[in-house]
Amino acid sequence: MTATTIISIRDLTKKYGDFEAVKGISFDVFEGEIFGLLGPNGAGKSTTLEIIETLRQKTSGSVTVNGIDLDKHPDRIKEIIGVQLQTSGYYPGLNLTELIALFGGLYNRRVNPLELLDSVNLRDKAKAKFKDLSGGQKQRFSIATTLINDPRIIFLDEPTTGLDPQARRNLWDLIRQIRDRGTTVILTTHYMDEAEILCDRVAIIDAGRIIALDTPDKLIDKLVDTGFERPKEVKQANLEDVFIQLTGHALRADA
Ligand code: ADP
Ligand code: MG
Repeated sequence: MTATTIISIRDLTKKYGDFEAVKGISFDVFEGEIFGLLGPNGAGKSTTLEIIETLRQKTSGSVTVNGIDLDKHPDRIKEIIGVQLQTSGYYPGLNLTELIALFGGLYNRRVNPLELLDSVNLRDKAKAKFKDLSGGQKQRFSIATTLINDPRIIFLDEPTTGLDPQARRNLWDLIRQIRDRGTTVILTTHYMDEAEILCDRVAIIDAGRIIALDTPDKLIDKLVDTGFERPKEVKQANLEDVFIQLTGHALRADA
């Protein structure tokens, strides 16, 4: 199967005043993959995502999404992408069903709120307020809002930051389900274990430059080929495995 490019970035730069946060990056995202932008805080991940999302002005370079040139038709890009909204924008008086109906109206889309909530495992929270959800549930709801316009691509900026291990694994399952339904996912994370498990391909970005881009497997093989060895023998499990075993994998009400 040959990969079809759905996002194409060439020589992208972004300056904030004199400071160049993104220093000429180029990469392609393939249709139907989970693509990870990895890197430490301040690397330029959010800036890059927000430019593609049409929410931030680039300084130079080109961005094409599903064949649409960002400079010519940002409005047409907006129609085919799903972006996590700032949670502060969730009207506190409304429950989840009402919020989805409201967002559907904003997108001019007819949505079935219960069906959508079901797809992120929140049907039983249909009447709950956003503020009363757990961290994991908030993230799942916010991912549901990215799906309202039935997008080709969704953008998730650090979707698992601050979540406990169960909620994090839960979200990985959800993100995979979304990908398996044919939606391309581009996400940022600074958790390498997460990227290794979840992402089909990753770009490692540091100080505004892409320093590596490949499948996690190939990146690891390349490192091993240089003669790299882990300093101590790796155990068959890690502390997170212990934690998950002891506390249970099962989807918890509040995960
Ligand atoms: P990341 O998401 O990888 O943590 P960001 O894209 O948020 O990185 O930020 C990249 C760099 O640009 C950081 O040094 C950050 O401080 C700077 N930056 C981000 N937004 C602005 C802004 N609006 N004005 C000035 N500098 C900014
Ligand atoms: Mg960021």
